[in-house]
Amino acid sequence: MAVPKRKTSPSRRGMRRSHDALTAPAFQECPNCGELRRPHNICQACGHYNGREIFATGA
Ligand SMILES: [Zn+2]
Repeated sequence: MAVPKRKTSPSRRGMRRSHDALTAPAFQECPNCGELRRPHNICQACGHYNGREIFATGA
């Protein structure tokens, strides 16, 4: 079995983990209904995207 030759130093471990942080998901206000939606995604509240209604909502 392949085994590391040396112990990973705290500095090396920190450098590896420097890219591990999670980013908060982005949200924008829907221009149609004002609900928060993810960018480049259909609004889940009113079904609109790019000025058009993509799917009809129950209301
Ligand atoms: Zn909307």
